[in-house]
Amino acid sequence: MTALLSVVVPCYNEEEVIGETMKRLKAFCAELSDLDVELIFIDDGSRDRTRQLLRSFAAEDERIRVIGFARNFGHQIAVTAGIDAARGDAVVLIDADLQDPPEVVHQMVAKWREGYDVVYGTRTERPGESAFKLATARSFYRLLNKLSDVPIPLDTGDFRLMSRHVVDTLRAMPERDRFVRGMVSWVGFKQTALPYKRAERFAGESKYPLRKMLRFATDGILSFSTKPLQMSIGLGLSAASLALVGILYAVAMRLFTNEWVEGWTALMIAVLFLGGVQLICVGILGEYIGRIYNEVKHRPLYVVQEYLGYGEHAPALSR
Ligand code: UDP
Ligand code: MG
Repeated sequence: MTALLSVVVPCYNEEEVIGETMKRLKAFCAELSDLDVELIFIDDGSRDRTRQLLRSFAAEDERIRVIGFARNFGHQIAVTAGIDAARGDAVVLIDADLQDPPEVVHQMVAKWREGYDVVYGTRTERPGESAFKLATARSFYRLLNKLSDVPIPLDTGDFRLMSRHVVDTLRAMPERDRFVRGMVSWVGFKQTALPYKRAERFAGESKYPLRKMLRFATDGILSFSTKPLQMSIGLGLSAASLALVGILYAVAMRLFTNEWVEGWTALMIAVLFLGGVQLICVGILGEYIGRIYNEVKHRPLYVVQEYLGYGEHAPALSR
């Protein structure tokens, strides 16, 4: 029996690129002689014609499956739905905008055949991105690695191949604030990097505005580290030590000299400083508590409006 490769493609408002992506993916499939392929497109609640286009693709080709979300749930959740629905012996995650060249997947498959469970694409070049995005992404991956307990590869996105072992383990991880690339590192098994040159977005613009990028970065850090909590203790301790120095100074002045510290400036600075430190610490605590709250609500991770191209074997509508 030939092995099955599932290719998971999250799409959000990608009407301008999806036709070309389909063409490139089909060409890629044609080059694979000894593997069956299923293409799983997740429509993450697009408001443009993405869903209609995907529907017509699915009607034409039985290898194509579409998971249509009831609203926009975000990239990481879309990828999760694809992983949940994939039936392949190996699963590839790839962006819809052709920034991750499908041709690189051939090399991933070769590595998988050598016995690797995860082959992740590491970006050697990222043309067409703003200097701001490059700089923030660079520092984010480095900071994340400093804070996280498991090493998470630098400059690595979600473009990767995973074996069935890894996919099954991921499916058993029910956490809500999902940072997929970190979760895959956490799983372990035999992992290897595959350097590749990231292409420019084929058309349209990034679906990751600053707001989503910040959310994504906090998810990454808070899901993989409790060090911010320890840092808030450190911050409190340094503020307290600073205050102690001030107190000792004021007392010494009063006892041993004829002058004393006066005025409300020093007082005000101390109050504001302490207030700031306290708010920061409460905020950090709040972020973690908010996440606990999200977990205990136990809502489904996503809601699927429709499965297309699955015949009678469509998975359950939510997880
Ligand atoms: N995406 C998604 N849901 C979202 C945002 C993005 O499914 O809420 C998809 C998007 O269609 C693309 C991938 O995630 O296939 C990566 O997004 P994008 O290319 O906009 O991010 P960038 O490459 O700019 O970081
Ligand atoms: Mg992109």
